[in-house]
Amino acid sequence: MSLFSRFTLAVRPNNQHVLSRLLTVQRNMHSKVVIIGSGPAGHTAALYLSRATLEPVMFEGLFANGFAPGGQLTTTTDVENYPGFPEGIMGGEMMDKFREQSIRFGTKIITETVSKVDLSTRPFKFWRENHEDKEPDTADSLIIATGAAAKRLNLPGEEIYWQKGISACAVCDGALPIFRNKPLAVVGGGDSAAEEATFLTKFGSHVFVLVRRDKLRASKVMANRLLSNPNITVLWNTIAIECKGDGNVLNLLITKNTKTGEIKDLPINGLFYAIGHVPATDLVKGQLKLDSDGYVITEPDSTCTSVDGVFAAGDVKDKRYRQAVTSAGSGCMAALECERWLSEHLPE
Ligand code: FAD
Ligand code: NAP
Repeated sequence: MSLFSRFTLAVRPNNQHVLSRLLTVQRNMHSKVVIIGSGPAGHTAALYLSRATLEPVMFEGLFANGFAPGGQLTTTTDVENYPGFPEGIMGGEMMDKFREQSIRFGTKIITETVSKVDLSTRPFKFWRENHEDKEPDTADSLIIATGAAAKRLNLPGEEIYWQKGISACAVCDGALPIFRNKPLAVVGGGDSAAEEATFLTKFGSHVFVLVRRDKLRASKVMANRLLSNPNITVLWNTIAIECKGDGNVLNLLITKNTKTGEIKDLPINGLFYAIGHVPATDLVKGQLKLDSDGYVITEPDSTCTSVDGVFAAGDVKDKRYRQAVTSAGSGCMAALECERWLSEHLPE
């Protein structure tokens, strides 16, 4: 688990490269393919495209969407479920390795955020943050890999115990020793909450699910699974209002009944948010087809978006799995689809 919040990570020493390379970027480029975003999806796309000698350019972002270059995994410590690392690997270290591999095969990485795109004509135009009044850069094709961010409740005490008992990813963190045989709580009433609560029963002594209304949003099958599990107690009409602990680890959640106003103590050692994610799609809103939650819609079994020549990969298009390995997988798909598209649309 991370000892750092994503904001403190922004200034950790191994992000110094971010600052040192800022002033040295070339402007008004044209590229065959530009990747926007630098998580597992963006870097896997970069690896495949650079090995295919397509000279991809990646905009890795300057703390875009609240994350350091490298994405969400820079905010965690041990990643234990990415194949190939049997002992686990620190999230930041893993993303440094992804970056090294992209560069090794010739990806050009620019440490800036893309703040505006025009997808109405080809070549596509895009602008860098703080240079929106300048001439745009252009690209024949684009891969959108801008990721997503878990919603948080911003409760009193949350910042102190974030990643010291509080997490937004049960699948990532649930197996950690601090949660073993301890009472745990999940906030949310959707499919994620149902899935994560069920998953957590493998580790915790009991799992409480805080649902703010008197009904679940989860699908019937998931809801039934949740409600029939003897190791799970659903606390209806209940919200979390404060996180408390000993300064190092969480041990108490203060809850409130939304109907009666009654305040109660819930002794727990783990709190998992499952209240949804926000995909980083402001950049393409109104230009690419998005679903009702703002995720980029891609064709079935594909990364093709509603605009020919624009591909989307990773959490920005995936509200279901949201894992490093699935993001990397879709980054690979985007690169292969983009490579084929370029071969059909660009003269040799
Ligand atoms: P992201 O990782 O979200 O990266 C997107 C990147 O694009 C960011 O760096 C962002 O700054 C950049 N960007 C965004 N907009 C722009 C822009 N306009 N211009 C330029 N750059 C931009 N998954 C696992 O499989 N195992 C784990 O153990 C695990 N642990 C996790 C722990 C935490 C605390 C969190 C938050 C997530 C964890 N996950 C884990 C989930 C995993 O991190 C994500 O599924 C994965 O990182 C998604 O990859 P991505 O490439 O889609 O995007
Ligand atoms: P979701 O469907 O948006 O559900 C979010 C839940 O969190 C809702 O119960 C919501 O309550 C609650 N919530 C939101 N803000 C809250 C707050 N501030 N305080 C307390 N509770 C709050 O999100 P999701 O569960 O992550 O699912 C996202 C999508 O992925 C869905 O389409 C889902 O079907 C899909 N998914 C599918 C699977 C699967 O099939 N295996 C697994 C995971 C996700 P309200 O209901 O009151 O709004």
